[in-house]
Amino acid sequence: MSNEELLRRYEAGGGRLAAANAEGLAVVPALHAAVLTSMDSRIDVFALFGLALGEVHVLRNAGGVVTDDVVRSLTISQRKLQTRDVLLVQHSDCGLASFTDDDFSEELSEEVGMRRPWRTHAFADPVVNVRRGMARLRHDPFLRPGTIVRGFVLDVERFTLDEVFVSGPGGSPNGAARRRRPPSHPARPGRWSTRGSRTRTPA
Ligand SMILES: [Zn+2]
Repeated sequence: MSNEELLRRYEAGGGRLAAANAEGLAVVPALHAAVLTSMDSRIDVFALFGLALGEVHVLRNAGGVVTDDVVRSLTISQRKLQTRDVLLVQHSDCGLASFTDDDFSEELSEEVGMRRPWRTHAFADPVVNVRRGMARLRHDPFLRPGTIVRGFVLDVERFTLDEVFVSGPGGSPNGAARRRRPPSHPARPGRWSTRGSRTRTPA
């Protein structure tokens, strides 16, 4: 049923709108950056960072976890499509913090009769998990030398961003050291990009 609804919306104008939004855009992201975040349906990455189409690569998976496939995508993003910085955003109330890898494995194997070959990357604390992801990206041999990686935990109720530091100057033992808050009165509810010409209308 859901697939039919998506295709209905495509035909009802989504396809035309997407074509209009993409018109004239280059394949290289204009801000030369990539954002990795969770697939959580409440997070509007474009609204959150005031982005327009064509400005960044957005990578999403369950949890916003740095997996082998994320490294694959980031390497291509950097080496073939000229991005440099990486912003890693995980969040409070994430589905991946609601179970453990072992429990999920047991559940699945009981139902399916075999063990899954992949890990869920479930985590208890997004701060620890962001720090782990940042450390992995900073030491990855295939990303560009000098890649700037910054990591944050987004509070999905207040939409504050807490920056996470791996270690070193400016870092704190608890990781979360600097909080960013959205303005209390955004110019337009739900979307505070200043690029009026590229705001979307609902399909
Ligand atoms: Zn999530």
